[in-house]
Amino acid sequence: MQNVIIVDHPLVRHNLTCLRNRETQPLEFRRLLGEISLLMSYEIARSFETRDIQIHTPLEPTAGTCLTRDVALVAVLRAGLGMLEPILDILPNARVGFIGLKRDEVTLEPIFYYQNFPRNLGEHEVVLIDPMLATGGTVSASMALLSKYGAIRVKVLTLLAAPEGIQRVTEEYPDLMIYTAAVDRCLNDKGYILPGLGDAGDRLFGTT
Ligand code: URA
Repeated sequence: MQNVIIVDHPLVRHNLTCLRNRETQPLEFRRLLGEISLLMSYEIARSFETRDIQIHTPLEPTAGTCLTRDVALVAVLRAGLGMLEPILDILPNARVGFIGLKRDEVTLEPIFYYQNFPRNLGEHEVVLIDPMLATGGTVSASMALLSKYGAIRVKVLTLLAAPEGIQRVTEEYPDLMIYTAAVDRCLNDKGYILPGLGDAGDRLFGTT
């Protein structure tokens, strides 16, 4: 799994365990997911290209670095919203895009119902945010859409990934890096990740 970076910081693992717990209520779930998203976004930001610049401190000139490109965060609705807000706290200038996809109950394949992206995606570091990489259908379809809109430098930020989804996505997009807090065992026959945490959108917004 050379395309997968597991962010296994102790705080990520601690929060993930609480997120998995079925007793965790939406308010707490949102807080925990927010904290994990922050920690994971530090990790993903390591991959952003920087360039050297010259600045002046109040005392003298000095060399520094800045991000080469603007960042675009693209959240898959609706569970991606739970990771988006906290990441905007550390990347407040990031542009934000949205992808609305639902899964066909029978084929489990994604169907688009909404899309809205910042301009010039090709000039951005793009982070595709979807907490659950299950069958890989959503990420795969989202990648196709992003590339249609010109995105070149895309990374996937997810909370939990299933081996089946990773395999599909990496077969289709061999250069794509996937950042996740854990790789779980497998999918069940309804496409849910095991052991997983259930439906991330439902857990976030209390719609179970
Ligand atoms: N989406 C979810 O919210 N949970 C899963 O386990 C799989 C897909």
